[in-house]
Amino acid sequence: MNEIGLTNQLDMETYGKILLIAMPIFLMLVLFEKWYGWKTGKDTVRIMDMISSLSSGVTNVTKDVLGLSVAIISYGWMYENLALIHIQENIWVYIIAFLALDFSGYCIHRIQHTTNVFWNAHIIHHSSEEFNLACALRQSISVFFRIFTFFLLPAALLGVPGNVIAIVAPLHLFIQFWYHTQLIGKMGFLEKIIVTPSHHRVHHAINPEYIDKNYSQVFIIWDKMFGTFQEEQDHIPPVYGITRPVATWNPVKINFQHMFLLISDAWRTKNWNDKLRIWFMPTGWRPADVAEKYPVYKIEDVYDFKKYNPESSKALQTWSFIQLFILLSFISYLFGNLASIGSPGIFLYGLFIFAYIYAMTELMDGNPIAYVWEGIKLVIGVYLIINTNGWFGSEKLFQYIPHIVFAYLLAAMYLSINLSIKRKVSVPSERSVS
Ligand SMILES: [Zn+2]
Ligand SMILES: [Zn+2]
Repeated sequence: MNEIGLTNQLDMETYGKILLIAMPIFLMLVLFEKWYGWKTGKDTVRIMDMISSLSSGVTNVTKDVLGLSVAIISYGWMYENLALIHIQENIWVYIIAFLALDFSGYCIHRIQHTTNVFWNAHIIHHSSEEFNLACALRQSISVFFRIFTFFLLPAALLGVPGNVIAIVAPLHLFIQFWYHTQLIGKMGFLEKIIVTPSHHRVHHAINPEYIDKNYSQVFIIWDKMFGTFQEEQDHIPPVYGITRPVATWNPVKINFQHMFLLISDAWRTKNWNDKLRIWFMPTGWRPADVAEKYPVYKIEDVYDFKKYNPESSKALQTWSFIQLFILLSFISYLFGNLASIGSPGIFLYGLFIFAYIYAMTELMDGNPIAYVWEGIKLVIGVYLIINTNGWFGSEKLFQYIPHIVFAYLLAAMYLSINLSIKRKVSVPSERSVS
């Protein structure tokens, strides 16, 4: 699942409104999956992993709504200059737009998986060692220049207007949510046409038989046409994650981890040829000298490794869960009031959201100085209360909101200090993959 830069086609406010509807629906489905799995004895959702996934989703939509990336070539430019014909705005234009998006999605996805430098934008989506609906929401924040718009060339040549792409693109993205689940088996004849949970389990798996297969996003036809299709086998249970585990719940870190490795490898290697070619080599490739000198852990046997599971008390889990809901309240207010908050307020608000998620997930990771990040969030929060003389206009709805925000910030600081310093030292409760 990946996206083509929705806010390059959609205006910020429309996307904010769409998200206000989409977010609660996604959240309900995530919680339903957890409940249903628990009830039927096949719980596939670990609480901390789920919180990490949802907070990653929040980083992604915040960045996108704020429009913090630019397309090198815009779809509008391609449409204006390259359209050969102009197809009528009937149902066909929507069908063609959908197919064009699906094909471009396949191409981009395949490039991301197979090229070192482009893998960084997609690593977050595969970073969970679980496979559930929440994982679908792990989406990138590391792309600032979008260069793949040209894959929409077929749509531009046929003269599909930008506003049609703008309507179809979010639908095409959101529809990829449902198949991130282990609770649905094979689906008969549908397996031949669309991407099903079974197909996508294979895509998220690191078993040698499955890795780098099934890149398709909605229609499975592209994998079948281009030879990247793999069926899920009963005797090969998928093992999820990435071969170099990210070992953190922090979505901001995950988003840049691979890029940092590439930069440091390119810097450290003595071989000039390697410094230049590392970026475009297959994903995971490292110059021989640095790979030897600075080894990076890689899972060799997928049936024998420890899932990331830092020790966490019931108190920390409960607090993290509560924090998630407070985060969603903060973000909902932002998305519903983008116009009235205006610039630069929305960007300062975005900064607060990022500090919030960073502090929350560092605490979840067991960082003994997570409270430092909480302190940064507290400073930003208090600055915003003073600066906006309230909380971005919400005080007009209810005059005590700024007081509640302030009390929350202090409580979060207090709990962060307690939970990070007074961590009880015990044997890590890691569990192995079965
Ligand atoms: Zn996926
Ligand atoms: Zn992928």
